[in-house]
Amino acid sequence: MKVMKFGGTSVGKPERMFEIAKLITGDDEQKIVVLSALSGTTNSLTEISSCLAKGERAAAKQHIDALEQHYQNFIIQLLKTEEAYIKAKSVLAEHFEFLNIILKISYSEALNKDILAQGELLSTKLFALYLEEQKIDHVWLPALDFMTIDMVDEPQIGSIKVKLTQLLNRHKETKLFVTQGYICRNAKGEVDNLKRGGSDYSASLIAAATNASVCEIWSDIDGMHNSDPRIVNNTKPIEQLSFEEAAELAYFGAKILHPASIWPAQYFNIPVKLLNTLQPSARGTLIKSEAGSVGVKAVAAKDYITAIKIKSSRMLLAYGFLRKIFEVFEKYRTSIDMVTTSEVAVSLTIDNDAYLKEIIKELELFGTVEVDTNQTIVSIVGNEITETKDVLKKIFEAIPDIPVRMVSYGGSRHNISLLVSREYKEQTMQQLNAGLFGEVN
Ligand code: ASP
Ligand code: MG
Repeated sequence: MKVMKFGGTSVGKPERMFEIAKLITGDDEQKIVVLSALSGTTNSLTEISSCLAKGERAAAKQHIDALEQHYQNFIIQLLKTEEAYIKAKSVLAEHFEFLNIILKISYSEALNKDILAQGELLSTKLFALYLEEQKIDHVWLPALDFMTIDMVDEPQIGSIKVKLTQLLNRHKETKLFVTQGYICRNAKGEVDNLKRGGSDYSASLIAAATNASVCEIWSDIDGMHNSDPRIVNNTKPIEQLSFEEAAELAYFGAKILHPASIWPAQYFNIPVKLLNTLQPSARGTLIKSEAGSVGVKAVAAKDYITAIKIKSSRMLLAYGFLRKIFEVFEKYRTSIDMVTTSEVAVSLTIDNDAYLKEIIKELELFGTVEVDTNQTIVSIVGNEITETKDVLKKIFEAIPDIPVRMVSYGGSRHNISLLVSREYKEQTMQQLNAGLFGEVN
């Protein structure tokens, strides 16, 4: 079994769907194809929901009509035969009728989730009609029948496996399945989702549940790059990453893969490939248990970081001090990314400052608190880099004039992180690219 996931831009135009149909019929292996919504659709649905939440029905209606028009044009180009076109018309009628009905219902969080689910249902149904028209044998699998999350929104891999296996067993002869990314059912049995960008997560859960030979994530970039191409020139795709390296990079800003999608693949040891629909023969990035090589592989950055310093002479020689500080963050369900300590102070960073005021207030009981907002974590990632000779030297030689606020070294063997003020992000990344990869910007 092979899992192939295609993102929004890969299904966003009829001609892209034609390309996907070729890619998924290239060999004989059994496949589950996981699709996102057409690009822009989930954003539109979010907009419709937020209009409804504010009671702005007319605005919601305008968004619904614009979206429907988009799909009406889409199916004209997607399908050739009258028969397929009529079927597509009725798919649109069903889903847009639903959206028009909700205009009359009072808004709730459960309804919001139903609205957001329309995108993946539409994209997979339309793609399935195209396959049918092309006489490509396949079965459309409803993700809502097998993808489930528990009370704390964690996917239930055990039950996903049981349900999915039962479904697949009903179609033993079938080589090709098409299903929706992102959507699922929650513990109450309601329609829910795996959060924005969650189709990657769906794909890796499905790959884990079916013990797939590979989980391919197709987008329109040729793999994970060694730095951010929007900031740095001459970035290059990374050939191979370990799961650990990929997790660090996915979290620290490489937008190409949803960070949560690493663990199912890692736990069940399923290789993940990041591939490009615009350049299908390009190598892309392979993520597996082995890193392939040692040394620096990539630099990634994460913005909107807040640094907090707690200074207290009471910390001197005291034990239990860190626990008390961490408990404050736990209380406000705020996760900590970087931590550095000295004998009389602790600095740490958070990326969610929803409870910053409350947190500061409680921390002030322990000592003086200083806060720096608008910071950026620049992470240097690579297998065993903390044991690779000269890496630290090269890093600091590359950025002699950058004021570094914090350094995290040795927390993992694969990551060295620097905290700099957001205004130095571009310069830091460009100079590191030159110093670590020898690229001139
Ligand atoms: N359609 C969803 C989103 O835009 C899920 C995904 O594309 O991964 O967030
Ligand atoms: Mg995505």
